[in-house]
Amino acid sequence: MLRARDRSRGPRDRRWIFVPYDQLNHRFGPLASTPPGETGIVMIESRAKADRRPYHKQKLALVLANQRQFALEQADRGVAVRYVMAEDDYATVLRELSRELGRITMMRAAERELRAELRPCIADGIVEELPHAGWLTDRDIFRRSQRSAPWRMQRFYETVRRESGILMEPNGRPVGGRFSFDTENRRRWRGEPRPPQPLRFVPDPILTEVGELVARDFASHPGQLDLTSLPTTAADAARVWSHALLECLPWFGPFEDAMSVSETTLFHTRISPLLNLHRLLPRDVVDDAVAAHLPLASKEGFVRQVLGWREFMRHVHEETDGFRSLPKGSQLHEHGEPLPAAFWGRPSGLACLDHVVDQVWREGYSHHITRLMILGNLATLLEVSPRELSDWFWVAYTDAFDWVVEPNVLGMASLGLPGLFTTKPYVSGAAYIDRMSDFCGRCRFDQKRDCPITPMYWAWLARHREELIGNPRMALPLRSLARRTDAQQAADQRVWRETLARMAGAEPR
Ligand SMILES: Cc1cc2nc3c(=O)[nH]c(=O)nc-3n(C[C@H](O)[C@H](O)[C@H](O)COP(=O)(O)OP(=O)(O)OC[C@H]3O[C@@H](n4cnc5c(N)ncnc54)[C@H](O)[C@@H]3O)c2cc1C
Ligand code: SF4
Repeated sequence: MLRARDRSRGPRDRRWIFVPYDQLNHRFGPLASTPPGETGIVMIESRAKADRRPYHKQKLALVLANQRQFALEQADRGVAVRYVMAEDDYATVLRELSRELGRITMMRAAERELRAELRPCIADGIVEELPHAGWLTDRDIFRRSQRSAPWRMQRFYETVRRESGILMEPNGRPVGGRFSFDTENRRRWRGEPRPPQPLRFVPDPILTEVGELVARDFASHPGQLDLTSLPTTAADAARVWSHALLECLPWFGPFEDAMSVSETTLFHTRISPLLNLHRLLPRDVVDDAVAAHLPLASKEGFVRQVLGWREFMRHVHEETDGFRSLPKGSQLHEHGEPLPAAFWGRPSGLACLDHVVDQVWREGYSHHITRLMILGNLATLLEVSPRELSDWFWVAYTDAFDWVVEPNVLGMASLGLPGLFTTKPYVSGAAYIDRMSDFCGRCRFDQKRDCPITPMYWAWLARHREELIGNPRMALPLRSLARRTDAQQAADQRVWRETLARMAGAEPR
């Protein structure tokens, strides 16, 4: 597609940097420190990578269009660009190119999958690996913050706040007197204030071409393509962030846990795909949020997500080599029931589940609480295989990459890694869903009378009672469970089995 622009010099006169699909920013790492005229970048579209999983069409379009736009942006800066469209994997292409370009530099890949693929190239000296400059924290601070497993995000977050001085007073106390304002961020949304609408974009020829490619070559992949919702240029990314900062973050905190049929994003920022591709740099969004005039509960809530949860999840993934090497006493539970067809878009009759699934296949996005307390909750209550659930999230969401999707699904939203880094399982009955959303009003089930989720919750607690005894955060639900009669508990288990069977045989839409 693009070739080195400056033909008066040989390719070996430049420093060649491999820019993977998720390092698309010239303001960090070796691209930031080498003058454009002395730099070349290698970018690869690998068909082998795209074919590895049935990724949502929207994700393929997002990644490919951002890669292509980034290549053009760098060419405009005077960087030489070698853009390869290959059937092969990245390692094969880099080996081939290194014969012509010499040793190629890259920042350590964020995804374990890519690190594993490139390990032989690094060992052979074909590729020189530098630390990844996009993270806000390093492994030392993660380790300093935890004496040993089980790991706790709060300990990590407080250590990072103290050591970085972010949202800290000069006297060493957290701004506002507390490290977390989470307890204030649990309001149901009842129509006011009006949430901002997600930005739309006019597809340019690059995005249009990518859209045609995805529609043609990946027709069998799931999900709808909507090019007008895809930010693809550096300018688009800046617009998304400015919109998030000005329009979403002022109300981000109070409605962080709210869910609604009519407003799927509410006051969430939708920046995760751009952060994970590094179109937006985490350090910029944290700095801007800290400097902005925002209510403290919203400001702290946002900082905790990016500086706390996002960094913590990545450390957990790397520390365990993607859960292949677990601390003593921990075990990965991957098996269980097959994922119901409802997750692939067949109606289940559960309005909460069907609404969120519909949104995911339309947009490749849903916000945190719908991921955790609808999709994760339902799958856990149904005893779905944590691995199948994780693989589903991996293909369904545009922001999914191994370092972030696996810890969130295996460790937080399912019982894949009980207790390794969460203090309680995230499960609930229908009362929570009704309290935090308006889904129940649109459902054929009545939340109090015949909704299967509450009996499934009791049935789940009963099946897992032995594992949960001793967890102080589960003491109250277990006391309530003990008050249920034997007949009620037998009926609970029956509802679970019937719901599972019904969802396994759900009719296609
Ligand atoms: C089951 C499950 C699966 C998830 N899968 C992914 C995934 O594949 N990719 C992904 O980026 N996030 C994932 N998350 C975390 C979180 O749900 C998303 O980052 C968030 O919903 C993205 O939407 P947003 O940008 O509007 O976030 P906002 O609510 O506006 O939050 C701001 C930012 O905080 C960061 N953040 C918040 N929570 C987390 C978290 N738990 N882990 C990592 N970053 C976090 C994200 O970068 C996000 O953009 C998952 C969470 C759950 C419960
Ligand atoms: S009634 Fe039950 S199934 Fe229906 S939306 Fe509410 S919680 Fe979901």
